[in-house]
Amino acid sequence: MLEIVNNFINGEFAEPHNKEYLDIYEPATGSVYGKVADSSSHDIYRAVESAKDAFPQWSGLYMEERAGYLKKIAAEIKNRSNILAKCESRDTGKPITLASKVDIPRAIENFNFFANFSENFIFESNIESEVSINSVSKQALGVVGCISPWNLPLYLFTWKIAPALIVGNTVLAKPSEITPLTASKLAEICSDIGLPAGVLNIVNGSGQVAGDLLVKNKNIKAISFTGGTDTGKKIYQNSFASLKKLSLEMGGKNPAIIFEDCNYESMLKTVVKSSFTNQGQICLCSSRILVEETIFEKFKIDFCNKISSINIGDPKNDKTQFGSITSDEQFKKIKHYINLAKNENGNILLGGKAIQLQGRCKNGWFIEPTVIEGLDNRSRLNQEEIFGPVVTLQSFKSEEEAIEIANDTQYGLSATIWTTSHKKSDRVAKNIDAGVVWINCWMVRDLRTPFGGMKDSGLGREGGESVLRFFTEQKTICEPK
Ligand code: NDP
Repeated sequence: MLEIVNNFINGEFAEPHNKEYLDIYEPATGSVYGKVADSSSHDIYRAVESAKDAFPQWSGLYMEERAGYLKKIAAEIKNRSNILAKCESRDTGKPITLASKVDIPRAIENFNFFANFSENFIFESNIESEVSINSVSKQALGVVGCISPWNLPLYLFTWKIAPALIVGNTVLAKPSEITPLTASKLAEICSDIGLPAGVLNIVNGSGQVAGDLLVKNKNIKAISFTGGTDTGKKIYQNSFASLKKLSLEMGGKNPAIIFEDCNYESMLKTVVKSSFTNQGQICLCSSRILVEETIFEKFKIDFCNKISSINIGDPKNDKTQFGSITSDEQFKKIKHYINLAKNENGNILLGGKAIQLQGRCKNGWFIEPTVIEGLDNRSRLNQEEIFGPVVTLQSFKSEEEAIEIANDTQYGLSATIWTTSHKKSDRVAKNIDAGVVWINCWMVRDLRTPFGGMKDSGLGREGGESVLRFFTEQKTICEPK
């Protein structure tokens, strides 16, 4: 039976006004398993009105009361972890173990974290001078929009919604049309725990239509977006007329910089993960691997050997470490870049082909983990975001050269540095243009820290206090002394 994903407006599931739906595919099989509402202006209008109506009451609650709702949502996600992990794996093609160990636990943590962290957020302060007393308060903005991508659906959806709600905003959120299932399960949870109607509205549909309408809507005060840089730029332009606050988390071309004096075994294990987790479809994945010349040949062999033992297969299987690409469009895009490598004088050391599995997954969108060397850093493969299981190798002779190559892209999201020298890692980290730099580790997150990219990778910061500031407006009330 087909899974039907409807909108969630004013606390109820609703068919799209025009009764039109888009197909939802299971990427591991390449077949349609559901339909998702293809919303139009009427649906966006209703969702905004519902969020507007809910705002006075929600923003008027005590913070602890809102935190109580967030904690209930977290507890219910936890209770339904198994089913949510299955849905996420089916929708994205990611291994079930990854969904169970990373995506769903992080969605729980997002709600719990903001419920607790906001206790220490200073909403009001006084500034006195000889002539005045100023009361400075931070207030919710009103109705805000959250737009998230398909690679970490529930993880990134909740990373936006939780901070928006805790400070008193009401939300209109749009998941990617490619992976809408867990957002719809979250709506069920919100309904079951009694979140007041209209506080969270979820509208599905294409980015070009539903997303565009949401961005252009004058009643929406801010947009928190995660996705590609081109889309982010379009949102920037489209929100211009209504002067919205914007938080844009966008693409990356992240370098892993490996020095001869690194802890080799730990580096090797983590760089394989940082390159190929979620089939390389994480904005923070390493895509350009820069290796000190003295260990370049050894690294090449060891890296390829280690990748060869990754278990590729049906995402449903507990033993699978590497699943399918999430959409046919992305599958074709990755193959296009692999073909392009040949024109750019790249030498494919490992992988480079689509995989045809047997049985249930024979028509799925699988691509081998691919390693390419010999490309100039100015080549398209080293400059453009591929967002798949494709990494390039380059060697460097000095620290200066490594920094130069690392910074020579339009992006600046994250970087990893591998060395046992603190002085060296400190120097390199300070000179890398990236919002997040990991030294001898990857994807280690403390949710209190600011998260976001430099250059074309981002505008603004998520996480901790940064995101609570983003979702609030400051007001000064001044009286004479
Ligand atoms: P897209 O930019 O295509 O889409 C992201 C979201 O924006 C989707 O919900 C999409 O809807 C929506 N959208 C598309 N067009 C518009 C529009 N004109 N107006 C409003 N919304 C729109 O990104 P992907 O989903 O393909 O995700 C991959 C990208 O996300 C990569 O570039 C990756 O680096 C980036 N990313 C960045 C992260 C970060 O933290 N910096 C984290 C994770 C991913 P729909 O899909 O329904 O069309």
